[in-house]
Amino acid sequence: MFAPTVPARTSESDGHMPQMPARAAALATLGTESFDLVIIGGGITGAGVAREAALAGWRVALIERDDFASGTSSRSSRLVHGGVRYLEHGHLSLVFESSRERRLLLSLAPHLVRPLAFTWPVYRGARVPLWKVRAGLTLYDALALFRNVHGHSALRPDGVLAIEPALERSGLVGGARYWDAATDDARLTLASALAAREAGAVVVNHATVVAGLHGTPGSRLEGVRVVDRLTSAQIEVRAPLIVNATGPWSDATAALTGAASGTQLLGSAGAHLSVPRHRVGNNDAITIVSPLDGRVMFVLPAGAHTIIGTTEHPARSGPDEIRATELDVQYLLRSVNMLFPNANLTPDDVIAAWAGIRPLAAARAGEHSANTASREHAIARRSDGLLSVTGGKLTTYRAMAADVFAAAQREYRSTGGASPVTRLRTERSDHAVLPGGSFQSRETLMDEIRQVVHDPAVVERLALAYGSRWPSVWAFATRDAALAHRIVDDLPYLTAEVAHAVEREMACTLSDILIRRTHIAFETRDHGRATARRIAPLVATLLGWTDSEQAQRLAEYDADVARLFAVDPV
Ligand code: FAD
Repeated sequence: MFAPTVPARTSESDGHMPQMPARAAALATLGTESFDLVIIGGGITGAGVAREAALAGWRVALIERDDFASGTSSRSSRLVHGGVRYLEHGHLSLVFESSRERRLLLSLAPHLVRPLAFTWPVYRGARVPLWKVRAGLTLYDALALFRNVHGHSALRPDGVLAIEPALERSGLVGGARYWDAATDDARLTLASALAAREAGAVVVNHATVVAGLHGTPGSRLEGVRVVDRLTSAQIEVRAPLIVNATGPWSDATAALTGAASGTQLLGSAGAHLSVPRHRVGNNDAITIVSPLDGRVMFVLPAGAHTIIGTTEHPARSGPDEIRATELDVQYLLRSVNMLFPNANLTPDDVIAAWAGIRPLAAARAGEHSANTASREHAIARRSDGLLSVTGGKLTTYRAMAADVFAAAQREYRSTGGASPVTRLRTERSDHAVLPGGSFQSRETLMDEIRQVVHDPAVVERLALAYGSRWPSVWAFATRDAALAHRIVDDLPYLTAEVAHAVEREMACTLSDILIRRTHIAFETRDHGRATARRIAPLVATLLGWTDSEQAQRLAEYDADVARLFAVDPV
């Protein structure tokens, strides 16, 4: 049990206000100042728009109902990728744009977005034959202007097996190796929200937009009404322009702020599961074509685990209830078992299974299937000025944000106003490094961390999650030795990350810490329930919870993990 007397709470002396006063100050600012732009929804889309507009000097408020990335943005395949799958459907412009954004993010957030090698084994009779894989990957390289980390290379069967010896040998006719990038979706979203805050935006999580504010019925939106979920306080936030970036909730958000938005959301559900990596035996990432139905899917390395995904079918539940189903689990396990002869995975091997809803824009004529609908985004303008954005991908979020911001500027001009700039020094989102991204190379960064941190897995974790800002985490461990240990023995998270999450990263709940600031809930069979009980006294000290509040927060954590990780019996 951690001693709840931890003096880890940072004081104003190091320039940072503790979390709760800082949050109260942000909420007070929301209610007293007026803004150029309010963004509803702190997924990757909303965080990206907030960063874009704040970097351009606008006065911005970003309001998130739950936590940053608590929706789809923490349920992705965690890839920043050109999208090989989209080649088949002819979405070449999307692959082109995604490849450019992949290149940019590799340099703007080199800690959070890092090259990942994929092997694509091809078997006799596969739906996607060898020539098509190789031709497709040549096109993939071309659409990246041959500026991907490395070009693809063709592999003979023995070349495939040299890289991934656990794969089925029988029927293997060859394959290819190509490159994309891996990310931490929740931390990429958080980094964008923090970047927006550092550029001057007021950024608040656990605050719900419950209504739009109109001077008279039918007139332009003048702001939104917000309820702080931690205190139930109501706040009116004033701005002439509102962006609805609530992903799979966007139709509901449009309805509560006025009339329907005019977007057509095609909710496409996708499930993933994680199993112990040694059971699958993959070394790197592997692109497989499921022998069951010919769908392209991924087997992805994630520390000691392998993530398998994804499925794709029209969402049958709403975004608040979406979970993996037994059918999803069976399909993913059977697909992998057919290609990894020693895996023999059963549902008992599943550490976690989860699902999310892709908020696809279905506005293009004839696109009614989730499998083929484009990941391109759509921006719809309502007559009272609400801009709703749907579609897109984690990978393209910066480009999408730039488009939304351009639409916001047009909206200002159309109302006769000049585009507001409230700061003199502005920055471009394709040049501004994300928080933690200022370092020479991962190798030199890891060397630097190794000087003081002696646990190799923790060194890697600090480098990849916090980049150049790792000293800000380590500072908590040096102030209090109790924070210098791992949270869970076999996972590389440092207890100092708990304090850092609260004091520096706006974490307000146990779920914020165990599901999104770290991935402990995804990586433990009890989804972090035992860990929640161990860290609760520390978090209670940091956030000033009473004993009964601590018990309530633990019950809320249990409810959250049941909501996310239970497998639906369908
Ligand atoms: P969300 O992340 O859902 O954010 C919407 C936010 O709005 C939520 O946080 C919600 O709490 C908030 N909200 C809702 N109502 C309100 C309200 N009233 N007030 C305030 N806030 C509110 N893309 C990739 O590039 N790479 C991948 O590997 C990849 N894999 C994927 C795999 C799957 C299975 C899925 C489902 C998607 C994948 N994607 C991937 C796509 C990508 O994850 C999504 O496009 C992206 O996360 C959508 O982000 P968003 O911000 O639009 O929506």
